[in-house]
Amino acid sequence: MLVLGGGIGGVLGAHIFETLGFKVLLLEAGKRLGGCATSFQRDGLNYNAGATTLPGLYPGFPIDRIFKIIKFDPKLGSLINLLDPVCEVHLANRKDIKIYSDPNKTIQEVSKTFPIKDIKPFIILCIRLPETFLLHLSN
Ligand SMILES: Cc1cc2nc3c(=O)[nH]c(=O)nc-3n(C[C@H](O)[C@H](O)[C@H](O)COP(=O)(O)OP(=O)(O)OC[C@H]3O[C@@H](n4cnc5c(N)ncnc54)[C@H](O)[C@@H]3O)c2cc1C
Repeated sequence: MLVLGGGIGGVLGAHIFETLGFKVLLLEAGKRLGGCATSFQRDGLNYNAGATTLPGLYPGFPIDRIFKIIKFDPKLGSLINLLDPVCEVHLANRKDIKIYSDPNKTIQEVSKTFPIKDIKPFIILCIRLPETFLLHLSN
């Protein structure tokens, strides 16, 4: 099996094929693996370049399913840094919003910044949309 490109798609794809018993050759045009989800060092510091968050780790979601196929070593799980807050959004008006893994905490946080009636169903919709999309992709 020949895999062209060592971005996350190529690396995971190659690993999946290898797990399924194929002999795999991965060719990457760049100097290192990672593609749009890589990192680099400058002046002794490490920088992430591109993707920094890894959605889809919940049970049944794409990354969880891939980890099961490639029999991801749970010991390596310690390398995954589960963030909570998941991310912080810095708005131009200098108001910051933290997004938490607990939707209720996120709703409280967003409601403080945007005290709008009916913000709660909007936030729930924002949370449900990607979940539904990812679950649909997984099936
Ligand atoms: C700034 C930025 C932030 C992002 N943040 C997030 C995030 O937080 N969370 C998230 O989920 N996603 C994020 N993304 C999107 C995510 O990084 C990409 O969707 C993902 O990395 C794409 O992976 P890929 O393997 O499909 O393609 P790529 O990463 O583009 O990899 C393709 C690889 O193929 C190589 N290649 C191309 N042509 C050839 C050839 N002919 N022969 C050999 N090799 C070749 C390239 O050098 C490259 O390494 C971000 C993207 C960017 C740019």
